[in-house]
Amino acid sequence: MPSGRVLVVDDDAGIQELLALALTSEGYEVLVARDGLDALEKLEGFIPDVIILDLMMPRMDGLAFGEVLRERGLRGRIPILVLSAAAGGHDTVAQLKPEAYVDKPFSLPDFLQKVAQLAA
Ligand SMILES: [Mg+2]
Repeated sequence: MPSGRVLVVDDDAGIQELLALALTSEGYEVLVARDGLDALEKLEGFIPDVIILDLMMPRMDGLAFGEVLRERGLRGRIPILVLSAAAGGHDTVAQLKPEAYVDKPFSLPDFLQKVAQLAA
């Protein structure tokens, strides 16, 4: 059973609920943030092993969040899995250079496998 801490950053409440349930069932400790700013607040008390990152979010999007992580020296220390519609073809993904990405709509087993690889 995998273990580790995962921060889910997504503005879609349905995705938040689905991922929190799936990841918790797998044995991860999970915290959810609704956008980049919320995620930065969560990171003050929770250092995850993996960040699941949506790209399009209000207030602070995925790319801007990645930039702040870089400025803070955290970018290389916490792997990012981008979960977004057409993530693979997104210019933002080329700029952000996540360790992995999964296109929405996604297959839960594939998603969980990638998380497990990043958390290992
Ligand atoms: Mg979104």
